[in-house]
Amino acid sequence: MAYVITEACIGTKDASCVQVCPVDCIHPGPEEAGYADTDQLFIDPNVCIDCGACEPECPVNAIYPGDAVPPEFQSYVQKNAAFYSK
Ligand code: SF4
Repeated sequence: MAYVITEACIGTKDASCVQVCPVDCIHPGPEEAGYADTDQLFIDPNVCIDCGACEPECPVNAIYPGDAVPPEFQSYVQKNAAFYSK
């Protein structure tokens, strides 16, 4: 089950996670189109390999393993996936 970026990323967009992801599944990064317009970053659930490298990099603890997303942030599971279904 893929990792998920949640509410704390909104307005933060630190993007340290982007640098460490071995499969480049966190977007939009600072160098990509869409970064300025997005309020948070998203993990592609179909590409994430559950390595866990991103989680400790986040300065605001916005990233959770898919099976450990707190109840109040469950909507972010779909929000992350939806970003890639456009
Ligand atoms: Fe990328 Fe690993 Fe984080 Fe998945 S868990 S988004 S593969 S760094």
